Amino acid sequence: MLRVFKPTWMVESVFHISPQKLKRHGITTVLADLDNTLIPWNNKTSTQRLRHWMESLHAAGIKLVVVSNNNPRRVKHAVADLQLPFVAHALKPLPVGIKRVLKRDHLNRGEVVMVGDQLLTDVLAANNCKIKSIWVKPLVKTDLLPTKINRQLEKIVYRLIRKKYHLQWKEDID
Ligand SMILES: [Mg+2]
Repeated sequence: MLRVFKPTWMVESVFHISPQKLKRHGITTVLADLDNTLIPWNNKTSTQRLRHWMESLHAAGIKLVVVSNNNPRRVKHAVADLQLPFVAHALKPLPVGIKRVLKRDHLNRGEVVMVGDQLLTDVLAANNCKIKSIWVKPLVKTDLLPTKINRQLEKIVYRLIRKKYHLQWKEDID
């Protein structure tokens, strides 16, 4: 049962993930959570850091799609200058938001990876969809209110899976 929470990889931040390694794993599209994954939850707009990472993805021929549980207004505004495609109200950990992207962009499960800062939403949604996942540390220490509650449960779940699967934070994916 704990397997549903197990990320494929655990990496310091989204910006540590190298496009070349993603390519080696056959990844053509990265699905990424927004708040505290791509930008701090309290940032209204995108950042220079995100722009650079996105450019390196694009240079490697990898697409980036935002899959967020937040509302369309927030997501649209946050990524407006980057012109990123997105799904808002994704209802993670349910697989609906991810499935919508797979269907819309005609993607196979093997060629996508979900990146996010929460085990109980992002990683669980990826596993519910049977796609690869990368769990990253949140960009800032504070969280949106609903996330604060999830973090308490996440701590417990992480303690259990870390032991069972000998998990470790890495500098990049393998
Ligand atoms: Mg998040």
